[in-house]
Order: sequence, then C-alpha cells, then structure tokens
Amino acid sequence: MKSSKCYVGLSLIISFLLVSCATVPVTGRRQLVVIPSSTMLSMSFQQYDEFLKSNKLSNNKEQIELVSRVGSRIQKAVEQYFAEENMSDALKNYDWEFNLVESPQVNAWCMSGGKVVVYTGILPITKDEAGLAVVMGHEVAHAVAKHGNERLSQSLATQMGGMALAIALQEKPEKTRQLWMSAFGIGTQFGVILPYSRLHESEADHLGLIFMAMAGYNPHNAVGFWERMAEMKGGKAPPEFVSTHPSDKTRIRKIKASLPAAMQYYKKSK
Ligand SMILES: [Zn+2]
Repeated sequence: MKSSKCYVGLSLIISFLLVSCATVPVTGRRQLVVIPSSTMLSMSFQQYDEFLKSNKLSNNKEQIELVSRVGSRIQKAVEQYFAEENMSDALKNYDWEFNLVESPQVNAWCMSGGKVVVYTGILPITKDEAGLAVVMGHEVAHAVAKHGNERLSQSLATQMGGMALAIALQEKPEKTRQLWMSAFGIGTQFGVILPYSRLHESEADHLGLIFMAMAGYNPHNAVGFWERMAEMKGGKAPPEFVSTHPSDKTRIRKIKASLPAAMQYYKKSK
C-alpha cells in the first residue's frame, strides 16, 4: 500500500520487518503495522487458550449470558460496519469468543481475531447491559483498529532491537509473550494504568460508541460509565501530563463531542 504516507518514525524496524500500511476504520488514520495478520491471529488464538486455561472462568450463568449477548451484538455491528465499508476482508478468519473471568481486576480486553475477556471486577462499574456494551465496544474497537499490532510492532522495535517477530518467537518466547500481553493491555487495570496510547484510547472511544450504537445500545451510556470509573479511582489517577492516558475529564468531553455522530447510527439501529 502507499507506504510513502506512513512517515511514522519507526524506520529503525523497517529494515528488519515487512512494512505494511493500513487505514483505521472511521478515523481514516494511516497506521504502520508490521506484523502479518496471519501471525497476529495464530498468536492470538494460542495466547487466548493459554489464558483461559490458567484463569478461572465465572460460573455465574446470568452474567456469562450477559457477556455473550452483548458480545454477539457488538460483533454483528462490527461485521455490518465493515461490510458497508467494503472492508470485510479485514475480519476474515476472525473467530469471535466472549468469556467472563472470575477476578477482582477492573479490566476487559480483546485480542486480534475477536478474542474477548471481561473480568467480573468490572461488572459493578458497568452496572447494566448498556454499560457493558460501552466496555466491550471500546475493547473490540482496539482490536479491529489493529492497535495491538501497532503496539507490538513498536515494542519489537524498542525492546528487542527490531528483531523480526519470527526470530523473537523462537529465541525469546517468554519475552515475546510479555510484549504480547502488554500490547493488548492484559494484566493492567482498565482505564487506570494505560495499556494504550492517548491516540489509541480516543480512537477506541469514538469507534466503540459507533459499534455500541449500531448494536442498539444508546451511546449516551458511555458518559455515565466513565463517570463511574472516575469515581471508583477516587481522584487517584495520575495527572494527565505524567501519562499518555487521557484524563477522565478530557475523555468524557471528547465522548460527548462524538455522541451526535454515534446517535445517527443508534437511530438507524432502531
Ligand atoms: Zn482502551
């Protein structure tokens, strides 16, 4: 693709890895993703299975049901969105899965290929079905916007000296596993410690609102959810300048600005 437009300062890895450019849906931002989709998917499926084996799944039927219902609705919305944009190819070989893990962590994530985990610890803050749709829409948005690939590409460059992933996987499997986990925000607190950059967070917020709206959930629920998150943190969040994470105020302001666009999708879903 038009690599000339990808002037991201990552030339250090370019000589080692196959360069490919992609476009983020909705925002149209050009991004540099250097890891082939097939590699991302096979790593994702493997890491996801390992994660499920080593963590306790919830046995609360009602909550499991809720997570899978919201997940399926978000999945359909994403598929519809990509079909309308003639981008369905990007979801080829996705194998969606939605699991609820028993853990006090306030967290949720989605790996490449639609592999989602929600932690029971976030449910008191999502509060209801629409609140959960805010979180799942946001996490799925990170995945379909290839933020994990971007992050992993950057980590390989900075932490492994631009070593190609195939070599890194063979020579330093434990290190690559850690990079993978951090690329997808696994093991970090949702919205508290920053798994993603500010740019990725804004993108996921915006896209997530559209996906939840297309899935038939009123996107206005996102404001309440992020206010509850802010309250939970009790003002203990680091000030904006020391982190790349948007402050709650900035985030909520941006979400409010995205609401009119998201509402167009919500009205169409009715
Ligand atoms: Zn995020």
